Amino acid sequence: MTTFLGMPATAPRGVGHLRGEEPFPAAARAALANPQLRRNLGHATATIRAKSAKVIAELPDWQELRSAGSALKAYTMAHLPELLEQLEANVSAAGGVVHWAADANEANRIVTDLVRDTGHDRVIKVKSMATQEIGLNEALEAAGIQPVETDLAELIVQLGHDKPSHILVPAIHRNRSEIREIFLREMPDVDPTLTDDPPVLAAAARRYLRETFLSTKVAVSGANFAVAETGTLAVVESEGNGRMCLTLPDTLITVMGIEKVVPAWRDLEVFLQLLPRSSTGERMNPYTSMWTGVTPGDGPQGFHLVLLDNGRSAVLADEFGRQALHCIRCSACMNVCPVYERTGGHAYGSVYPGPIGAVLSPQLTGVADNASLPYASSLCGACFDACPVKIDIPSILVHLRNEVPHPRSEAAVMAAAAYTMDRPRLYAAAQRAARLSRLAGRRGRGLPPPLNGWTVGRDLPEPPKQTFRDWWAKR
Ligand code: SF4
Repeated sequence: MTTFLGMPATAPRGVGHLRGEEPFPAAARAALANPQLRRNLGHATATIRAKSAKVIAELPDWQELRSAGSALKAYTMAHLPELLEQLEANVSAAGGVVHWAADANEANRIVTDLVRDTGHDRVIKVKSMATQEIGLNEALEAAGIQPVETDLAELIVQLGHDKPSHILVPAIHRNRSEIREIFLREMPDVDPTLTDDPPVLAAAARRYLRETFLSTKVAVSGANFAVAETGTLAVVESEGNGRMCLTLPDTLITVMGIEKVVPAWRDLEVFLQLLPRSSTGERMNPYTSMWTGVTPGDGPQGFHLVLLDNGRSAVLADEFGRQALHCIRCSACMNVCPVYERTGGHAYGSVYPGPIGAVLSPQLTGVADNASLPYASSLCGACFDACPVKIDIPSILVHLRNEVPHPRSEAAVMAAAAYTMDRPRLYAAAQRAARLSRLAGRRGRGLPPPLNGWTVGRDLPEPPKQTFRDWWAKR
């Protein structure tokens, strides 16, 4: 425990899908060339936004709830070591076993060993960001264990050998005819006359998953919340697949990021109001499953909780950036982000896409490994307004931009500007040169190389006809 949260901020972290595969600008350019993707994204995000706005407007104390959620998360971060120890004690007292994983490799090794110990070679999974983050499915497959995703969208992604592109709607980039093709190609014993009618597609997935639920003895889940005071874990979901995974198998293994702990049972009252309204636009989640350790004769008789650090201690060490750990994964920031709506989630090269991904992934991996993500934003502030726990994402983006290693050429330009501005005559000569370039017809156009990067996405401002100095001298 002491070494766990006491890891130095520079500790190497095992990371699954967090490291940007190619810089955001290149990946975004490729995504922008896909009109189908943009249509799917535009339709889905607009629908969720409208639903969410309607149910949020029903609550007169929404802003107070947001403030309460923010304060609870800030308190949790300030007392994280004590709360985790309290959680461990209460889970253990209720018959669960707690494991500590410093990084992705350790977490994958723990889960793989636990599954092997059961003697089974297949697990059913509840949708979980933490297990995607550590690449658990790939680790299980390498060990000869078959993971089966049971959330419908996650199943589509898994069968399509694809990656999720949205926290809440992982297959948001797919339309129904693409889903039909994936099912026909990959789903065992699928009806070859399958149509792309949504109820028909859902029924095919349901039949396949029911058989899998009833014949699989080990489940792996994430957790939305863990209550330190009682040792209770909570998973919220919409399809009932989570309830099946959490109750039917003999063994349940939960992988949870350490930031998901909340101090007390009554704190759930705040988060269980904030989360569904911000995520699915519902008043409450259709399924809220909670369990405390093991109950003899009821549900899984073996319960393991894997507490995952994987860079979170380093994020916690940054008193400003640590706000990113307040995230309750509602996806509201994605649904309002003009950048996400056009590029989709894959462009972020991380399991955490959109505005929260742009601040969380660089912090988890080290900013240098995801240096383009803090710039994947127009800083319009829509994400801050939408966030149910009031994470000031735009300010964290600016904070992280200051940590990004800047190119030498930029430092050279800044040094030259400082030198020039320090010398009035030289500065006046530079102004004259700028005005000459205006006369030479460069107004409104880009800068010449090597400075043209600055004007790729913006026009060069026109130098004024008269400088302030000229104006001053005349008067
Ligand atoms: S940052 Fe806020 S809005 Fe975005 S997913 Fe997290 S909790 Fe939701």
